[in-house]
Amino acid sequence: MRAEAKRYAAPQAWVNGAWAQDVLLTAGADGHWLNIEANATPEALRGAERLNGPVLPGIVNAHSHAFQRAIAGLTERAGAGQDDFWRWRDRMYSAALRITPDQLEAVAALLYAELLQAGYTQVCEFHYLHKATDGKPYADPLEMSLALARAAQRTGMGLTLLPTLYMRSGFGAAGLREDQRRFASTPDSVLRLAEGVPAGAEGCVNAGLALHSLRAVDAAALQEVAVASQARGMAVHIHIAEQTQEVDDCLAATGQRPIDWLLSHAPVDARWNLVHATQSTPAELQGVSRSGASVVICPSTEANLGDGVFDLPAYAAAGGRWSIGSDSHVTRSWQEELRLLEYSQRLALRQRNIAARVLGGPSSADMLFSKALAGGSAATSLPLGGLSVGQRADFMVLDTASAALLGVPADHVLDAMVFSSPDARLDAVFVAGQRVVSGGQVPGWPRLAADFSRAMKTLWG
Ligand SMILES: [Zn+2]
Repeated sequence: MRAEAKRYAAPQAWVNGAWAQDVLLTAGADGHWLNIEANATPEALRGAERLNGPVLPGIVNAHSHAFQRAIAGLTERAGAGQDDFWRWRDRMYSAALRITPDQLEAVAALLYAELLQAGYTQVCEFHYLHKATDGKPYADPLEMSLALARAAQRTGMGLTLLPTLYMRSGFGAAGLREDQRRFASTPDSVLRLAEGVPAGAEGCVNAGLALHSLRAVDAAALQEVAVASQARGMAVHIHIAEQTQEVDDCLAATGQRPIDWLLSHAPVDARWNLVHATQSTPAELQGVSRSGASVVICPSTEANLGDGVFDLPAYAAAGGRWSIGSDSHVTRSWQEELRLLEYSQRLALRQRNIAARVLGGPSSADMLFSKALAGGSAATSLPLGGLSVGQRADFMVLDTASAALLGVPADHVLDAMVFSSPDARLDAVFVAGQRVVSGGQVPGWPRLAADFSRAMKTLWG
């Protein structure tokens, strides 16, 4: 930990949902903001570290399965018969079943470097690869979790590890399928994993708990995890309603749709994060909002898997909170996630600037970014709410020499960040006040790339 406070001078920074000029940012020795001062005088800014471009707060990637970075681009060929989520899942399992702890570390480290270089500063790992490839327990139950923690440490990425309970292959099933053997877990085992995660410096590594889905967890086990998370103040994540088939299965098994069932059977509150609320009714989304829970929207993966379009207007009308996740990592760009979220609405509704209209601001990009930023703290149980006192000092410095930003007026910078691609580059990224990206790159990138390539060759060669 640093011994003293650090001061940064930003020509422009995103403070409380709007651009401010000549901003003096002071991070304390604990890596959290001590002071944010807009319109600072040249005297006040003197001696502060000069940042080379506009500053945005770092953003939380609220849903990740790091190992799936190893199949990005490898599931895009049609075979015979129907090609849908369930077919993709079979292919995804072929990676899940084989990846070793060393390979997972190599894949996750490259992924985390990419995410940092894009401006994500904390990632929530929805982690269910608990057992060895043969389904036997590792000597150290934390083996795979520690591979992810090492990847975070090698790159400087903040990590919220979510050991995930996965007990059965479907509603009413007695257990897992053979090809799900690595996921075997109990409420006790995931709790022990969560408690065993080594805390990182400056609060950058922590743990929450996850329930894979209603189809994978029975009511008693769900209750047990819910109670344990409540006692520990941990965030809880669950895949809730991604596929129409899981809605149909839930209706057949319980008489209720997944969100309805969850809200009436679990103590859902502001610590809960409902991943992929894609298949939902406006009434269910109102219920989510009333409960205080957040939705985690994963636009690129939901598009890649043909899930459907999230009902952003209905959720916005209910005042719902949300974050974004890159999930299967078909993109590592938060701009692409927000762009896709807006574009999917435009395509469905044949109108423009849906986010601006339903979220109540003039700029779609500003509204999307503000909402995604605000959802990050609920996803992590960490103070990751942007450039304000007490929040962790996570931020990205934009490279205004990027083609997407050339000549763009100051108050349209975020519009151009989201809606002009290829994405603008970042000059630097800081996590808890520490520089982790310089000149657009994580130090040690060549080594990370070599390790990743080697793991890929072993997995697919
Ligand atoms: Zn997922």
